[in-house]
Amino acid sequence: MSSRQFDNFKASSLFCQKCGSAQPVRERLLLVLPDRELHEYTCVTCGDAVGTREVTAADVIAQKLAARRAGPQVRIL
Ligand SMILES: [Zn+2]
Repeated sequence: MSSRQFDNFKASSLFCQKCGSAQPVRERLLLVLPDRELHEYTCVTCGDAVGTREVTAADVIAQKLAARRAGPQVRIL
């Protein structure tokens, strides 16, 4: 399966091999690269990693702009 399929949507549930069925997942930041971030999805039921998603720099900028518009300013160092 190509990771490109995950580019434009946020997964809310993914198939977990340990649980044997689709489970709700939690997203966490795994790795920050110069031009992208790698996010990992972990099963909320058993805590196993079930998938990853790449977020490009353009996506990150869009998210930060949206966050700034939505709420109180948060300084990210
Ligand atoms: Zn699981």
